[in-house]
Amino acid sequence: MKKKLIAGNWKMNGGLAANESLIQALLSGLAAKAALCDIAVCVPAPYLAQLQSLLAGSALALGAQDVSAHEGGAYTGEVAAAMLKDFAVRYCLVGHSERRLYHGESDALVATKAQRALAAGITPIVCIGETLAEREAGKTEEVVKRQLAAVIQLNGHCVSEIVVAYEPVWAIGTGKTASPEQAQEVHAVLRAQLNAASAHAERIQILYGGSMNAANAQQLLGQPDIDGGLIGGAALKAADFLTIIAAAA
Ligand code: PEP
Repeated sequence: MKKKLIAGNWKMNGGLAANESLIQALLSGLAAKAALCDIAVCVPAPYLAQLQSLLAGSALALGAQDVSAHEGGAYTGEVAAAMLKDFAVRYCLVGHSERRLYHGESDALVATKAQRALAAGITPIVCIGETLAEREAGKTEEVVKRQLAAVIQLNGHCVSEIVVAYEPVWAIGTGKTASPEQAQEVHAVLRAQLNAASAHAERIQILYGGSMNAANAQQLLGQPDIDGGLIGGAALKAADFLTIIAAAA
């Protein structure tokens, strides 16, 4: 059975002192559970060096929150995949709904970002999900399949190296979680799409994200096609994040 992955998305939160105390609390709380699931924290870019050093030799992997679609050059403010690799970044979020919404990221751009990450040896965590309006219009399946198809088409057989995060936009940061049944229904669709695209798709972890917390993690993670979680708010509280990890382990 594949391990579950619990990834924290710190978003634009943190500071040198706060990062250090959060990581110390996580590392001391992890102890025995660490090997039972994959764990990562996706941190703001300026803290990559600090986190590389704090996480060295631990079971916690380092993740970034975005990567440039370009290899390098005159792209002010962007961060190349090769630069992330310099800091031992193992995972990188691509296509988070906040980037799709506030930065106009298209399916094609997200697919290119995933390609850049893969080429640098970084696992892209490809975020997809429908808005409330799309769900209410009965378009959930169509939307998530379209978003995932763009990544599959551009990345060919490498698609078996990605992680997928199904994050219904209406559940992110809102306290409204998809029910385990709602989430499982979409995960099963995504699993079938991935299986049709690659002979090695079984290894792909499909995470659920959207107000997952210490109270609801166990039920969500108990669904057959939910292979982990992408956690926003609850990843900033060591006790909550540890409880979610324990539910996955
Ligand atoms: C996220 O930002 O990816 C997320 C799932 O946030 P939250 O857990 O706060 O809804």
